[in-house]
Amino acid sequence: MLRRLLTQTSSPRRLLSSKTPFFSKPSLSPFSSLPSSPDPPSSASSHVEESGSSAAAGTTISVDRSALFNPPDHSHEPTPDSELVKHLKSVIKFRGGPISVAEYMEEVLTNPRSGYYMNRDVFGAQGDFITSPEVSQMFGEMIGVWTVCLWEQMGKPERVNLIELGPGRGTLMVDLLRGTSKFRNFTESLHIHLVECSPALQKLQHQNLKCTDESSSEKKAISSLAGTPVHWHSTLEEVPSGVPTIIIAHEFYDALPVHQFQKSPRGWCEKMVDVGEDSQFRFVLSPQPTPAALYLVKRSTWATPEEREKLEHVEISPKSMDLTQEIAKRIGSDGGGALIIDYGKDGIISDSLQAIREHKFVNILDDPGSADLSAYVDFPSIKHSAEEASENVSVHGPMTQSQFLGSLGINFRVDALLQNCDDEQAESLRSGYWRLVGDGEAPFWEGPDEQTPIGMGERYLAMAIVNRNQGTPAPFQ
Ligand code: SAH
Repeated sequence: MLRRLLTQTSSPRRLLSSKTPFFSKPSLSPFSSLPSSPDPPSSASSHVEESGSSAAAGTTISVDRSALFNPPDHSHEPTPDSELVKHLKSVIKFRGGPISVAEYMEEVLTNPRSGYYMNRDVFGAQGDFITSPEVSQMFGEMIGVWTVCLWEQMGKPERVNLIELGPGRGTLMVDLLRGTSKFRNFTESLHIHLVECSPALQKLQHQNLKCTDESSSEKKAISSLAGTPVHWHSTLEEVPSGVPTIIIAHEFYDALPVHQFQKSPRGWCEKMVDVGEDSQFRFVLSPQPTPAALYLVKRSTWATPEEREKLEHVEISPKSMDLTQEIAKRIGSDGGGALIIDYGKDGIISDSLQAIREHKFVNILDDPGSADLSAYVDFPSIKHSAEEASENVSVHGPMTQSQFLGSLGINFRVDALLQNCDDEQAESLRSGYWRLVGDGEAPFWEGPDEQTPIGMGERYLAMAIVNRNQGTPAPFQ
C-alpha cells in the first residue's frame, strides 16, 4: 500500500523550496522557473520570509532543537527590563517566592502579550531554529502518506477531523494537502483543526494554506489548496469531538512546560526561578515539597530500577501527560490515531531544557521571551499516560525518525524528485534528505564546513497512539 501511495503522491511543485537555509537569495530564483505541474503552487514557493531572505541566509547555520548540552553564550550586558521580565519579576514578588521552571517556561513562551511565540515568525534562516517541515517538502509529504494509510485502516470514513497541534508556519499541512491531493475521497473527508496559541502564527497559517474566510469569522476558513474547511483553536479541548480523528503533533511536546527536580541532601527538591539581589533571575531549590512532586512520584513508578538509581536530576512535564490523556480519550472514543514526532528519549529525562536564539544556544535565564525554550520529550511518559487514560488505545514506538520516514518510503520519494531537477535543486534535495534521515554530519557535503547538514534522523523519535480497532498503524508493524 505504501508503494502505491508514494507513486500517487502529487508531483514536486515545491521541490526546490530551498527550505534549507543554505541558499542565498540569488540561488532561490531557479525555483520560479520549474517545469509546470498540474499541482497548485505550494506556499513555500511564495514564502514571505524566504522570498525576502537576504544573502545572510547563505551564511546562517540552521540549528534544530535537539542538540543538547551545548554551552550557552552568556550575555551579561545590563539591558533595561522588557515587559516580560517586569511581568515575571512582579509575579515572583507578589507570590512572595520563586516560581517553578514550568511556570517560567510557560510565561516565556506563551504569555499572551509578550511570549516568545505570540507575535512573530520564529522559524528558518531568519528566525531562531529550523524544523523538519521547513527543511524539506518531503517531511510533510511522508506525514501525508502516514495519514492516508491510517484513514484507510479506519475504513475510509466520510468525515475526519485532522488536528495539528502547534502548526508553526503551516508548512507541514500545506505539504500534506498537496501530497495527498490525488486521493480525493481522503481530502474531501477532511476538516482541519489547527491548535495554535499564537495570533501571529495563526495568521501565517491562514496565509500559507491559502485560506478564504467563511463569513466574517477568522477562526473558520476554506483552504483553497484542497477545498478543505480549516478551523483555529487555542487548545485541543476546544476542538469538537465525536468525529473520527487524526492528530499530528510535530515539535509540539518539546514546547510544553517542564518541572525540574534535583536530588539534594534534603531529598528531591524542585528547581525554581527567583530574582537575586542583583535583580537578575537565578535558580534556587524549593525549601519545601511542591505540588508537582505528585507527578514526580507518578513518573518514577514508570522508571526502571536502573534509571531510578542513577538519577540526580529529573525533568517531568505534567502538561504533556495531561495532553496525552486528552488525546488518548478522544482517540479511544472517536476512533483514529495520533502521531507524535519530536526530539526526545525512550527513557526518563534528566536535564535537557535549553534556550536557542538566532541558531545559537543561550542562557535560559537571559532576556526571557527573546529565545525559544524547549526540552527533550519523555516518550515513555507519553506511552504510560495514554495507556492509563483509555483501554481502547494502543501505543506504538517510539522509533527513530530515520526508521519512520525510511519505512514509509522516503527513499522512493527522493528518487522520484531527483528525476526532475537541476543540480542546485538536487543538492537541496540531498541535503534535505540527509537532515531528515541522516545521523550527524553529512559525509557527502562539499560546501563550507559551517553549513554542513546535520542529520536529525536518530535524535527525533516517532510514536503513534491509535484506537485498537484500527490495528497496528504503518510503519510500526
Ligand atoms: N510544528 C511546527 C512548529 C513547531 S514550534 C513545525 O514543526 O515547524 C511549536 C508550535 O506550537 C508553534 O506553532 C507554537 O506557537 C505552538 N505552541 C507552543 N505552545 C503552545 C501551546 N501551549 N498551545 C498552543 N500552541 C502552542
